Amino acid sequence: MLDEKLEPIFNEVLQRNPGENEFHQAVREVLDSLGAVIAKHPAYAEAALIERICEPERQIIFRVPWIDDKGQVRINRGFRVQFNSALGPYKGGLRFHPSVYLGTIKFLGFEQTFKNALTGMPIGGGKGGSDFDPKGRSEQEIMRFCQSFMLELHRHLGEYTDVPAGDIGVGQREIGYMFGQYKRITNRYESGVLTGKGLTWGGSRVRTEATGYGASYFVERMLGTRKQEFDGKKVLVSGAGNVAIYTMEKVAEFGGKVIACSDSNGYVVEENGIDLDLLKEVKEKRRGRVSDYAKARGNGAKFIAGGRIWDVPADIAMPSATQNELTGADAATLIKNGVIAVGEGANMPCTPDAVHKFLEAKVLFGPGKATNAGGVATSALEMQQNASRDSWTFEDTEERLATIMHNIHDTCAQTAEEYGAAGNYVLGANVAGFIRVAEAMRALGVV
Ligand code: GLU
Repeated sequence: MLDEKLEPIFNEVLQRNPGENEFHQAVREVLDSLGAVIAKHPAYAEAALIERICEPERQIIFRVPWIDDKGQVRINRGFRVQFNSALGPYKGGLRFHPSVYLGTIKFLGFEQTFKNALTGMPIGGGKGGSDFDPKGRSEQEIMRFCQSFMLELHRHLGEYTDVPAGDIGVGQREIGYMFGQYKRITNRYESGVLTGKGLTWGGSRVRTEATGYGASYFVERMLGTRKQEFDGKKVLVSGAGNVAIYTMEKVAEFGGKVIACSDSNGYVVEENGIDLDLLKEVKEKRRGRVSDYAKARGNGAKFIAGGRIWDVPADIAMPSATQNELTGADAATLIKNGVIAVGEGANMPCTPDAVHKFLEAKVLFGPGKATNAGGVATSALEMQQNASRDSWTFEDTEERLATIMHNIHDTCAQTAEEYGAAGNYVLGANVAGFIRVAEAMRALGVV
């Protein structure tokens, strides 16, 4: 429930940001957790601190013209929302998807601010992207789009200013084209300006795997609080992109069996476990769909077009596709089927109703801003390596990631307990993230 002191703040957010539903949802979720904080530390409600946290420091919207393979001029809209730089340079990914509008980027930038604070690394929060649809575009079209996008964006970036990375629709290929264009425009090999780079041009080992691996570390630790583990459990991982694939890889390493994954066309279910090598081949090499995987795999795999992956009975669910992909009705189905843990690999994949149902049913629930923070944490490790012109081993980097994820888990658990909500990782993550950002903002004055 929203504290009465926070209600006017939320109403103002609604008024100032009309029609941006995802942003409202993300703000509401954090404010719902803050009542106890301002009761305990009234100073956090002073100097319009919460109001300032809800207002991005800077919002950039720009035209991205490019020429398609038929010679036709196309126009997309580019965004970068520099949300909060109290803890460090703005940091957060770029999303290329036709559904992107300002409200998407603001919700992601807001979440990112608290997520980044939770990692304990010196990074502020930001997010960007475009309504460009990479699906069906040729290699050349993708490159021309990325170059045009960066031609405008470069003036707002810098290793001490703003450091983007990937998100949905932006992987190593796109980061490469954008880094190439940034390098050309600025005449600087400024490795630390983008993360998620390739290993031969400044990237970090484990960055590709980091979000999925990190989410698995988080859930394994969460299961441990109830003397449970992945070993022998049936797991659903929605999505089939970077986060989903490396979640499946680590879950399998932990002994869990991933029996289903999905994309926007439907899901594939396979009781003996998804063949990850084949899925990687189809997704990463052929840039194919989950239905192509099912076809290539043959009898064992069943593709259900348009179905809901959450109907498949399982012990653990890791929604790793996109926002609001798991509804209250899906949560009810999962609970009825005996789910014991849910870890958000994507950003805000569970609707507020779904989150409420999981918490009420005492299902272990890891919110995205904690569970999926391994991606951005490893981006910060990439920035460290770039700053010192160093390159760490896979083992060393993964060990650091595991430690960071365990710390995030323990911080959320301890904070929840301290605020009388033991086991509520949503409250723990929101409060712990908020306090870190708020402390820094108070120290830096009204800026
Ligand atoms: N897009 C990722 C996220 O949602 C990664 C951001 C980054 O590495 O900067 O956290």
